[in-house]
Amino acid sequence: MSPKNELDREHGFYKRNLETMPPAQRTKYLEEKLKKIIRHAHKNSSAFRRRMEATGVKPADIGTIQDLKRLPVTPKSLLIELQKETPPFGGFEGVPLAKLRRIFVSPGPIHEPGEADSHDLGWAQALYGAGFRPGDIAINTFSYHLVPFALNMLDNALFQVGCITVPTGVGNTEQQVHILRNLRVTAFCGTPSFLLNLAEKAEEMGLDLRRDLFLRVGFVAAEMLPESLRSQLEEKLGMRIRQSYGTADIGCLGYECFEKNGFHVPDDKIVEIVEPRTGKTLGTGKTGEVVGTTFNKIYPLIRFGTGDLSLLTQEPCPCGRTSPRLVKILGRVDQATKVRGLFVHPGQVKEVVAKYPQVAKYRLVVGRNDQKDEMALQLELKAPPLSLENFKSQVEKSIRDVLKVRGIVEFVAPDTIPEGSKIIDDQRSWG
Ligand SMILES: [Zn+2]
Repeated sequence: MSPKNELDREHGFYKRNLETMPPAQRTKYLEEKLKKIIRHAHKNSSAFRRRMEATGVKPADIGTIQDLKRLPVTPKSLLIELQKETPPFGGFEGVPLAKLRRIFVSPGPIHEPGEADSHDLGWAQALYGAGFRPGDIAINTFSYHLVPFALNMLDNALFQVGCITVPTGVGNTEQQVHILRNLRVTAFCGTPSFLLNLAEKAEEMGLDLRRDLFLRVGFVAAEMLPESLRSQLEEKLGMRIRQSYGTADIGCLGYECFEKNGFHVPDDKIVEIVEPRTGKTLGTGKTGEVVGTTFNKIYPLIRFGTGDLSLLTQEPCPCGRTSPRLVKILGRVDQATKVRGLFVHPGQVKEVVAKYPQVAKYRLVVGRNDQKDEMALQLELKAPPLSLENFKSQVEKSIRDVLKVRGIVEFVAPDTIPEGSKIIDDQRSWG
């Protein structure tokens, strides 16, 4: 007997009045919020004020979403640079430091302020859209350490929706399977690959995934979700899986509803698609960089450049939500890519190879095998080292140290790697 079966997870809204607004009304709603956050950021965030003053634009000049294009895009790389100059937040914080509850530290390194009382609307809308309902028992398998996603964002959003959270964090697969079973966990938060690990571990432990486990819904993020993996997991576990998109800096920028129809933009953000480098706003249907503006007073990022490529659509969605949708995430502006949930950047690959003068040419090939990411660093050597085996394991250790993701080294014959080829060759297809 599971009362969870009787819940309608496919319909309904977290905030009906916001989610079903006619587009013109939404524009008005967002513009009111925009005017307020611009005034707040100009008054309280020294970094934003400086950047605004450099353009000669005054807070009163920003009245509409179109006016946003008069302000500069702040890319993550600039945020990192300014934070180094003025730690911890580079002056982007919108409250005095003493008002904060936590400081998070993400790879970069980059810091994010943690709120005393977080009410992030976007992630709550995302969880509801994924079918999470009050009374669900959810495991949150994202990392609770250092980074803000699991604790500051998702844990609070689960509470807002009315779910009961088991803060399991990453790893401990076998223990997590016991938790799934013993607590009759109905909802999963984590990466698709970790859900796959759990399913495989449960099978290994002799469990019947549909009879012995009680999962109904899954919220996944931080990794690509190929449709083949989604349907494989949904079928195996008898659950529905929906994905979301956002960043640790700005929060949720899009979420899937039950229609699996792209990513609805939540009602606490303005999302623009801009031409990378110029910051010029592009119309719906045009591919460009995803730039987000949040209404979060603690960390009021205005025109934050995510470095992700996507496009927006205004086509109506059968779910009834009227917000625009990001059609899908198409890759990275700067060629960085995600491998097993972690960003791998061309600069990091250069850093690994710089330690080894024996290397003539190199290329990192990212592929997919059995629904898992694989990474091989191909090397062309000037001359063979004394022991190829030792050299191989040395470089593989450097890959682990610098990239934080395991990868293998492949030695290739001279002139295998074409002149001028990309440093990261992402060969994965997400069909
Ligand atoms: Zn929808």
